[in-house]
Parts: sequence; structure tokens; C-alpha cells
Amino acid sequence: MLALGDAQVPRSVTKITDDETSQHTRGTIQVGFLTPRRKVLLLARRRYTQPHQNKTEDVLQQLRKLRDTPLSNIGDTLESDLNFVANAIQAGSANPSLLVAVVQEIEEILQILPDSFGDRFWFDAQMIYEFQQSWNGDTQRLSGTVIPKTGKAWGHESVFVTSTSANERIKSINLIHLPGQDKLSDVDLLTYPFICHELAHNLFYFDDNEFVVRFRRALDNYLGNLRLRGIADQGEAKAKSLKLIQEIDDLWSPTLNHKNWAHEMAMDITALWACGPAYLAAFQDEIEEQSKNPYLIEQRHPPYAVRARALFIASQKLGWDQHSSGIKEVGKKWRQSPWGNGLDNRYIALTDPKLTDACLACALAACESYRLPRCTTSDIERISLMLTRGETPDFGLDLLLAAWLRKEQQDEGSFAAWEQDTLRALVKSLTPLSP
Ligand SMILES: [Zn+2]
Repeated sequence: MLALGDAQVPRSVTKITDDETSQHTRGTIQVGFLTPRRKVLLLARRRYTQPHQNKTEDVLQQLRKLRDTPLSNIGDTLESDLNFVANAIQAGSANPSLLVAVVQEIEEILQILPDSFGDRFWFDAQMIYEFQQSWNGDTQRLSGTVIPKTGKAWGHESVFVTSTSANERIKSINLIHLPGQDKLSDVDLLTYPFICHELAHNLFYFDDNEFVVRFRRALDNYLGNLRLRGIADQGEAKAKSLKLIQEIDDLWSPTLNHKNWAHEMAMDITALWACGPAYLAAFQDEIEEQSKNPYLIEQRHPPYAVRARALFIASQKLGWDQHSSGIKEVGKKWRQSPWGNGLDNRYIALTDPKLTDACLACALAACESYRLPRCTTSDIERISLMLTRGETPDFGLDLLLAAWLRKEQQDEGSFAAWEQDTLRALVKSLTPLSP
């Protein structure tokens, strides 16, 4: 793993101090990550405006304010980038416009960084860190800098520092958005399997070649067949079928920004791979609460009905059939609801199960090729035993499975009490190292 300026950059580090795990010292927030070159394309479209001298000063001041926070190493790294560019311009070896770009990028980063660092921040940071460690294995697959930020809804966001200094490396800072405020009582562990959906975005940003190449091929074949079928069409019928083919292509084509059906479906499948029935339960809660039309066509996500079907089919393949009946039931209710009556030919064409089946198969193949740890029944047995012994589960998958198991076994009140006790015990076990 690459960590920029390892020697001089102070790390914000936490460690587990309880007896069982005291041998681990766990770093949480780090800076430094190689971003694939192609991501630069996304950034090339940005427009830069001339910064005022005061703007640079202002940005420097804001960076210095990060010194007293867990993000101090990010502040220090960005400050040294800024100083490097300023010095290079002073020495005549860099174009002054570079400063404009750097200041703007840093401003963007500052805008999205969290500004609250309470117990929940540390809890979330440690959850992310656990998954980073287990998904990375002995290679780097996830960004080194993934920061939690509480807010309105689940999400993943990345910013990149492209134009800095001496090396060719591009740094990225990534945020996982979690719903609620920065307080432990706002943690709803039953929704936390979505952290894996968001981390899957990070994983696929880093390298989704395996998935994209396979699915692109399947999609091209599918669209090619559709074009062949419409070859005899004339006039308006021809225009209509070409428009539909284009629409399918637009919705399903994997894109760099992941705002397409293929990537979103792959994130669900990856989260299912990693969390098993805990993700199914979280997804089911989400769709049961939704008042939104489950058949709504929009660019960013496939309709809930399509996502639910994908998860159901993938569950069969991964051996979770007995845990997927709930999702199937919800789908049945939708079909019998007034929403189900409104399904037209366009909907049916855009959501052909063949595309879902191809997409989920490609996503499963990608998980396999990443050697991503897969949740298995033996994980569930292990956690079940742990709970019977009254032990506190560790951060990461163990905790997600424990919460899911507890919820299956207990009423709301006892679950809530167990959840809060467990969260407090886990956070207590995190002791910040002195800087
Ligand atoms: Zn997503």
C-alpha cells in the first residue's frame, strides 16, 4: 500500500485495546493512492478560474485547521502540495495557472470532508478499515483514503488531486456517506451492509476491467441481436426500435462514473457476496419502506424490481435461497399493486431478465477474480456461537452478521439494547494514539 510521505506525515491511528485484539494497531485515515489514469478523463472537463491571492491564503488556513482533527495528514499533505506548486512558480519552473487548478481542487476537497469527529466517526472509520483490510488481502484493491461522513443517505464520493507536484501519482480522497448524525445512537446496524455496496463502488473504481469487459461483450451481443431482429422494420417502426436499442445501451452501459444500471447491479451483487443474508435483509428493509415506484426507470439505478430480482437470482447461486424468500414476496406484492398494472412494453424491453442474468454473472465472476472474501454459512455458524457465549463481535463482517442474527432472534427492544451496548463496547475499545 502506498502512503505518501510516510515518514513525515503524522497518521491518525486508532488501536483496539481490549485483550483479545490488543496485538493489532489499526490505522484508519491515510492519504495516498494510485488512481487509474483513465479517471483523469473525468477531471479534464473541469473549468478553472483564476484564484485570488486571498483564496490561496484562505485555503491554507482551512488546511491548517485540519491539524487538530483525524484528517491532519490529509491537511498536511495538501498543504505541502500547495507549497510545492507555489515554490515552483516562484522559481519560474511552473506555470502560474497550475496554482489555480491546485487551489480549486483543494477547495473541492475541503468542501466535502467531514467536520465532526465524534464516536460515530471513529466507529464508521473502523468499520471501513476492517473491510479495506479484508478486501485488500495482500494486494491493494481499495483506495487507501476512505473517510466516513454522516448525512442524508448512503453514497460514495471521490475527489482527485491531479495536478500536484513532482510525481505522476494521482491522489484520491474518497468518502462513504452514511445516513444520520455523528452520534452512536444514530447507527442502525441493520442498514450497515450497505457500507459494502458503497465500498464496492470504491473497489470497482480502482479496477473494474474484469466486470466491464465481460458485461460489455454480453451487452453488445444482446443489442446486436435486437438490431438484427429489427432489420426488416421500416419507417416509424424502425425509428422506434432504434430508439429503444439506444435507450437500453444508455441505461446498461458501464461508465466511468458508475451512473448506470450495470455498475449499480454489480455493487448489490458484490455486497451480497461479502455480507450474504445480512445484505438481503438490509435490502429487503429498504424496499419494504420505499414509497417509490419499484418500476421507475431512471439512469442512475435500475428499478428496485430489477435489483430485487438480481439479488434473488444471485442468492440462489450463492446458496442463500432460504434467506431470499422475503425479497421474492415483496416482488410479488409489487406485481399485484397498482404499480404492477402500469408496466408497458418499453419497461419490459429495458429490463429484459437476460440482461440482469448476464450482469449478475459478470459481477460474480469479478468478485471471484478479485478473490473477495465471500460470506459463508460457516461465518454465520461462528458468529452464532460467539453470540451464544455472550461475546462482543469485532468490527466488520462479524458485526454485520451478529446484528442480523440478533434481529432474527430478538424483539425490537432487546435488539436495540444489544445494539447500543455492542456499539459502546466497540467504540470504547478504540483508543486514539497520541499524535
Ligand atoms: Zn450505488
